[in-house]
Amino acid sequence: MAKILYRYNAATCQYEPIFLTSTQNTKRAFAFIGLSLLLALTGLWYYNARYPSLDEVKLQKENQKMKWEWEVYLDKINELSNNLNRLEATDDNQYRVLLSMTPLDQSIRTAGSGGHEPYVLGAKDQISEIKSSYEQLYRILNRLDVESQSVAELEKEINKQEKKTSTRPAMMPIDNRQLIRFNSIFGLRLHPIYKDWRNHNGLDLTAPQGTPVYATGDGIITATEWRGGYGNAIFLNHGFGFETRYGHLSRFNSSSGQHVKRGDLIGFVGSTGASTTPHLHYEVLYQGKYVNPINFMYRDLKQKEYNKIIKR
Ligand SMILES: [Zn+2]
Repeated sequence: MAKILYRYNAATCQYEPIFLTSTQNTKRAFAFIGLSLLLALTGLWYYNARYPSLDEVKLQKENQKMKWEWEVYLDKINELSNNLNRLEATDDNQYRVLLSMTPLDQSIRTAGSGGHEPYVLGAKDQISEIKSSYEQLYRILNRLDVESQSVAELEKEINKQEKKTSTRPAMMPIDNRQLIRFNSIFGLRLHPIYKDWRNHNGLDLTAPQGTPVYATGDGIITATEWRGGYGNAIFLNHGFGFETRYGHLSRFNSSSGQHVKRGDLIGFVGSTGASTTPHLHYEVLYQGKYVNPINFMYRDLKQKEYNKIIKR
């Protein structure tokens, strides 16, 4: 049943029924629906503004997680940088000092030579913190390049110095246990055969005929032949300015052009040339000048260590 509306009529002092036309009814219905929609939309907007959606909640959580991870990442970059600082300091202050090399110039270290350029995709839109951490990372990469080049240089120098050490004359050419007499006169002396004063350019190690004679450092044999007063002689070039000579040998156990290692058996004690009794005449030369072999004999070398060298 349709609802009847009444209106008060002051003239008749009575309530009179109102009859609406169908157009008026339709208009009212539309106005009602419009108003309801407006209210509903306002409510929805208010809800959305005040309460985040499920997607938004998920995004916020992810954002938070990324923030934490970013902080961990920055910590790691700092740790990396500190480790590199220590490595560079050890390189400059210890290794280079030990190897008598000049420390790397700081400008080389900071400038870098690796050619890593900071990542600049959409540089304008880049978040400044990310941009600066990229720059820091690339500085570290450049410094790492410099440091690895420096380590390669150190390795090269170590190899060179190792070679220098192994070639240097540094032991007795005959075993102490075979030694009968050690004549340490180096320099001017009365010659036992020529009976005049002349320079003795080496040391004489008296030992039984046939006692093994060892190379005192790595090198190349340049002569195994009769050389006047030396008799049967071996000349050994060690490089880096050093040469050793072994005289009065009974026979050779090496030949010219042969590469030898310290401790290799190269010949045997004899009494050839200007000699009266079996002994080894041993000379050391540095840059063509005779030097006292006593300084290159390491006579305090323990027998066990000596045995180890001549066993090779
Ligand atoms: Zn001599």
